[in-house]
Amino acid sequence: MAPLLEVENLTCGYGPVEVLRNVSLSVERGSVLAVLGANGAGKTTLLRTLSGLIRPTAGRIVFDGADVRGVAVEKLVRRGIAHVPEGRGVVAELTVDENLRLGGLWRRDRADAQAALAEVYELFEPLARRRRSVGHQLSGGERQMLSVGRALVARPSLLLLDEPSLGLAPRVTAQILALLAQRCESTGLTVLLVEQNVRSALSIADHGVVLSVGEVAMSAPAARLKDDDDLRHAYLGF
Ligand code: ATP
Repeated sequence: MAPLLEVENLTCGYGPVEVLRNVSLSVERGSVLAVLGANGAGKTTLLRTLSGLIRPTAGRIVFDGADVRGVAVEKLVRRGIAHVPEGRGVVAELTVDENLRLGGLWRRDRADAQAALAEVYELFEPLARRRRSVGHQLSGGERQMLSVGRALVARPSLLLLDEPSLGLAPRVTAQILALLAQRCESTGLTVLLVEQNVRSALSIADHGVVLSVGEVAMSAPAARLKDDDDLRHAYLGF
């Protein structure tokens, strides 16, 4: 089967500042691709471009068989791309339940939106226990679960996840990522995961891409990136 996402020679940036150059990658359906690289390598810019927030100046983005370069953000959401940005964006004044429902507001199939909500509570049990707590009462881990959960209520086929480990204890990050990996296996969800925490990312990824100053420096199966000392030293610095 064709990959869910194929990016070819993507070039983009902010105004005259070019950040990504000729980036090519593909993500198989039901798999997790980890996008790794140092601060400023362009990882967040890549996610922002894939979710339609930044217009590429060159290259192709093929999602689920269609060229989606230049397609508006809201249309991409309806087609199945969900973006969980760094910093999370939980609405602090709303309850867990209200935050989750925001993720499904636009969906016409109310019954399925309700079913998706129930599945999120099943997946992230701490959220079910805190259903009526407002955003600012939650721990960092619960907030991260809430952001991911809200994205899942939209039943995306591709989840773009930016730095879920930010500010979280490694154990909490590991728990969230393990649950997501489980979700990929059981539902065919595909994840593009941007992470500074290389070990966490590679523990659930199928494949890894290393960005360096806006270009793909390395692309390899996660197991190889994890086990090959030379590769790790050369591209990941540990
Ligand atoms: P980090 O882990 O620090 O978020 P990153 O790999 O996600 O790093 P980006 O945030 O994509 O990197 O940034 C890549 C480059 O683009 C950096 O040089 C950054 O300064 C620049 N950049 C990011 N946002 C903007 C913006 N809004 N306007 C201009 N330049 C920007």
